[in-house]
Amino acid sequence: MATASEAPPELLKTFLASPKKLFIDGHWTEAQDGTLFEVLNPSTTQCVAQVAHGKKADIQHAVQAARKAFDTGPWSQMTASDRSKIIWKIGDLIETHGDELAQLETLDNGKPFTVARAADVPLAADIFRYMAGWCTKIEGHTIPISVPNVPGANFHAYTLKEPVGVVGQIIPWNFPLLMAAWKLAPALAAGCTIILKPAEQTPLSAIRLGELIQEAGLPNGVVNIVTGYGDAGAALAAEDRVDKVAFTGSTEVGKQIVQAASGNLKKVTLELGGKSPNIILKDADLQTAIPGAANAIFFNHGQCCCAGSRLYVAAEIFDEVCAGVSEQAKQIKVGDGFHAETQMGPLVSKEQFERVTGFVDRGQTAGAKAMCGGDAVDLEGYFVNPTVLVETHEAMEIVKEEIFGPVVVAMPFENQQDLIARANDTAYGLAAGIWTDDLASAHGIAKSMRAGTVWINCYNVFDAALPFGGYKQSGWGREMGHEALNNYLEVKSVCVSI
Ligand code: NAP
Ligand code: MG
Repeated sequence: MATASEAPPELLKTFLASPKKLFIDGHWTEAQDGTLFEVLNPSTTQCVAQVAHGKKADIQHAVQAARKAFDTGPWSQMTASDRSKIIWKIGDLIETHGDELAQLETLDNGKPFTVARAADVPLAADIFRYMAGWCTKIEGHTIPISVPNVPGANFHAYTLKEPVGVVGQIIPWNFPLLMAAWKLAPALAAGCTIILKPAEQTPLSAIRLGELIQEAGLPNGVVNIVTGYGDAGAALAAEDRVDKVAFTGSTEVGKQIVQAASGNLKKVTLELGGKSPNIILKDADLQTAIPGAANAIFFNHGQCCCAGSRLYVAAEIFDEVCAGVSEQAKQIKVGDGFHAETQMGPLVSKEQFERVTGFVDRGQTAGAKAMCGGDAVDLEGYFVNPTVLVETHEAMEIVKEEIFGPVVVAMPFENQQDLIARANDTAYGLAAGIWTDDLASAHGIAKSMRAGTVWINCYNVFDAALPFGGYKQSGWGREMGHEALNNYLEVKSVCVSI
């Protein structure tokens, strides 16, 4: 494994030297209008690459290729075993090129190289392998039916699970490679063809992944990658020749996707925002709960949809826990992700920097007190200090809204009934954390949480086999696990009179 070093990483020089193109029908092609956009390194605010600026016409071209590959191409006719081998190989290639992919994540998103190398890359490889295994296990059922109005008739009835068809996938910038992997792998396993639209801030690892997908031997047109802005995503969501759209990003854009998809009633799955409660009961082991609470919010600079951003602490230990989490926050080394000692990089963009600091400023004006952080780091890039805010309450904007930065709001609670109501008092329902040594409380609260994932005495644990997704306005459908396959399958009932 390469060690973290200051940019520019040698491995990437050739890759970054030429403008990156769109990947359509197995070929690397310029945008139809020939335009490019710049990709910035958020640690330095400098341009690191030029990328083809795909628009509606390019989306249409890619949809045509995906349509052809699905309707007539070899992918849907290939045996499940052959499909599985190619998907497994994509996982292998991600692993082989792990250093390079992690460096791209650091350059593009700002996250520390060590984190991208240890978390994003292996999890991305893993989901391809996990889903490769499912190709040969997508099974229907035989179903005994009793048709009462046809006396003496005999039927043989069974179901088939078939790929939903051409899929549009729109992903965000917080885990660029991993989000691409979470989307692509189950769709490929199901036998779909795909148009992927990466986030404008972080298109580079998806482009490199496109090269690896080509190397793995995926037939032309099965995966198409169109880099561009929100208008390209909107065109994809509205396309009548697309059978399904899968989106990860803000709840606001998620609602626009639903509207855009209504034209042909394409299937929709959404993985949206969150404002997840992280709960520490008074009997919790604070040696693990305090660093756990810090990790819950500060991992990936708080740019996680499931971040433990509302910290509820039993009143008896509130001061001790907040002081402990603040101490953890102060120890975090913030800086360029290529520096070996860096633990937290910058926010992804100027827009996010202003959004996060805006929330924190307004929160302090409204009466919240910063036990640590509360300000930006005096560096060139978009760095914000990890922040713990106390003297907050449920009516405040900073407690209601997703900040999507390294900012936790902490609040004490007196009893569990009150706690459960407050923890669930949110439009979101992605995740929750519980820290306690009491089994009955742990499972009781877990059952009461209106959230898609509950972590007990841990947080931010992800696995290719473990479904992930949201209740309420955090989304529709699940990523990962065999549940994710259902997002990409149709069920056909076949009924035979014998
Ligand atoms: P966003 O606008 O929801 O972007 C997500 C993806 O959707 C990007 O690829 C984006 O393209 C694309 N997009 C934008 N407008 C679209 C439209 N009308 N139709 C189809 N696709 C569209 O998220 P953001 O602006 O990057 O971040 C804003 C906030 O969203 C964050 O502060 C955070 O609260 C939330 N967020 C949540 C997640 C998550 O994992 N749930 C991830 C990222 C952000 P562009 O890149 O060109 O905008
Ligand atoms: Mg946006």
